[in-house]
Amino acid sequence: MSNTEEIEHLQCLIIGSGPAGYTAAIYAARADLHPVIYTGIVPGGQLTQTTDVDNFPGYPQGITGPVMMEDLKAQAERFGTQVRFGYATEVDFSTDGGIHKIQIDGSKWVTADTVIIATGATAKWLGLPSEEKYNGFGVSACAVCDGFFFKGQDVAIVGAGDTAAEEATYLAKLCRKVYMLVRRDEFRASKAMVHRVQNTANIEVLYNTETEEILGDERGVNAVRVKNNKTLQESVLDVTGFFVAIGHKPNTELFQNSLDMDETGYLLTKPDSTATNIQGVFACGDVQDHVYRQAITAAGTGCMAALEAERYLAGRDD
Ligand code: NDP
Repeated sequence: MSNTEEIEHLQCLIIGSGPAGYTAAIYAARADLHPVIYTGIVPGGQLTQTTDVDNFPGYPQGITGPVMMEDLKAQAERFGTQVRFGYATEVDFSTDGGIHKIQIDGSKWVTADTVIIATGATAKWLGLPSEEKYNGFGVSACAVCDGFFFKGQDVAIVGAGDTAAEEATYLAKLCRKVYMLVRRDEFRASKAMVHRVQNTANIEVLYNTETEEILGDERGVNAVRVKNNKTLQESVLDVTGFFVAIGHKPNTELFQNSLDMDETGYLLTKPDSTATNIQGVFACGDVQDHVYRQAITAAGTGCMAALEAERYLAGRDD
């Protein structure tokens, strides 16, 4: 950091612009913390990559993910939040309750009394061109968000962990038939979850099965071509929905040397709190939640983070 450049100082810096970041901004702005949000590479976060959001309270007719994020942005700006396109590239957190330093876009540094991390998580995908082509048109990485659109239809879900098992049983309640595509000859999920899957009549587990291609037309997905990796036999499953549940990756590389995280990279927060191991640094949304991962829970923890930042500053000034 150069000594000659003038460094902007903020009371509250928010990194990430999904429902957690914007909700934190709304609360922080209303508490006169003059928050600045750096949006990250995907302004609006994961919801801008989905279509309809039908489960966020307050939208009786549903809303599209991108419109909802524009609404949240406008609401945060209404109270004076500065929303800036840019992403944090380096952090130098104070370990003694002092000022935190954050580098933006690899060049400019800002300092902040409080930092709210809302960088989210990224769903893992298979990496097939057809998966990208039909994303939002029958392909989804969130059964709880999108399962409803496939009521009474046949769907497939890929994955064999707890998420896939949980989402398969969720889908089984809505859909006529659920094919579960497991690449090995066994699950990774816990025994209890596997029992639930095996005891659900309309889930058919296809072991040693890999996805070759998702098929469809202008109306969206209508089938999936799969291959048994033992027999090499290919088959086509007639499904209108294809769910990918092979894990998420929290966006936390930046904090690897400064914040406590679990073995898969999710930030650890104190119980019933968004406080991290560093004073004045809070984490909210999917970056610290591998269990619920919903827009509404992200928004809830965003609210908590702003309230805790405000209380931290008030306590420091006493
Ligand atoms: P996991 O990493 O546990 O599982 C990912 C699954 O996806 C594995 O079965 C893996 O297969 C499969 N997979 C990965 N890549 C591919 C691929 N390219 N093609 C096909 N299959 C693939 O992720 P989860 O999201 O399921 O769980 C994350 C964490 O959250 C876990 O610790 C889990 O226990 C926890 N969790 C707990 C819940 C609960 O307690 N209610 C609910 C949900 C999650 P393979 O096994 O062959 O590697």
